[in-house]
Amino acid sequence: MEQPRKSTVVITGASSGVGLYGAKALAQRGWHVVMACRDLEKAQKAAETVGMPQGSYTLIHIDLGSLQSVRRFVENFRARGLSLDALVCNAAIYMPLLKEPLRSPEGYELTVTTNHLGHFLLCKIMLEDLKRSSYRDRRLVILGTVTHNPDELGGKIPPQPDLGNLDGFAAGFKEPISMIDGKEFEPVKAYKDSKVCNILTVRELHRRYHDSTGITFTSLYPGCVAETPLFRNHYPLFQTLFPLFQKYITGGYVSQELAGERVAAVVADPEYRQSGAYWSWGNRQKKDRKSFVQKVSPQARDDEKAERMWEMSAKLVGLA
Ligand code: NAP
Repeated sequence: MEQPRKSTVVITGASSGVGLYGAKALAQRGWHVVMACRDLEKAQKAAETVGMPQGSYTLIHIDLGSLQSVRRFVENFRARGLSLDALVCNAAIYMPLLKEPLRSPEGYELTVTTNHLGHFLLCKIMLEDLKRSSYRDRRLVILGTVTHNPDELGGKIPPQPDLGNLDGFAAGFKEPISMIDGKEFEPVKAYKDSKVCNILTVRELHRRYHDSTGITFTSLYPGCVAETPLFRNHYPLFQTLFPLFQKYITGGYVSQELAGERVAAVVADPEYRQSGAYWSWGNRQKKDRKSFVQKVSPQARDDEKAERMWEMSAKLVGLA
């Protein structure tokens, strides 16, 4: 008898941390995982290390810091005749010690390009693939974070994100511009700004496309996954102390395994079929913590800002 086809999920940045463990958890649930990664050898080894069975995943190259590479990824994905049933935008860079901005091949500041513009382009193009899928419960998920939100304890540490009037985007986002608000380069703020854009993108996707497509658009904060390589560019002392601080002082610590399970749940479980939601498990971990829909920061729920950010991002990625 012919086996029913497996559902297919694309996960960006599945070679480590939350993305890798999300890939593992979804493969365990019977999904076929397309690991969209910039280093395929590393991704292959990572999949083997966490015990993902051969045949449960496909590796396809993507460099989210290059818009051309994002387009090539979609061509390669389509060339394989795969159906897209869920998309998880997870990859990110965090480079807190940079003194000067790095640039994408297009000349845009690299943190915002990798975390936001590359994913924005990917979502816009792959929305067509999701629309074509016959799967009954298609979802698009983008990773958020508590540090996007100064109203939360985890988001109070400066610098705080602020897209301002998006003057940097409006001015073309190339040298000498390196921040979305057009102000001076600040690498931690660039990361937080990019995460605000991720959440605004989900908001706008939901507003523009949920009713007409039935696709569920969500975002989540998986908890403080203090041991992922996201912090590899921080001071070594920070990398040692941060997990201990989160484990024993704030209680916000979450293992990579648990964070991966949370991603998989938001992709696949029926109770997370709530478009427009930002899921969180809070930051004060007790056993069996339950998920809830959390209010996002004032600028991440600003509809006018969402629309302007969308239009300007579309222009920057060459879609407007
Ligand atoms: P991570 O372990 O550093 O994973 C980041 C992934 O993104 C890696 O696979 C990395 O690839 C990939 N990546 C980076 N730049 C890329 C590029 N240009 N093209 C393609 N892939 C690229 O970090 P993580 O902690 O798992 O973070 C994953 C997501 O969770 C991020 O969106 C982050 O904002 C979010 N998050 C994390 C935490 C936390 O506490 N860790 C909390 C809240 C939210 P390489 O392996 O090749 O470097």
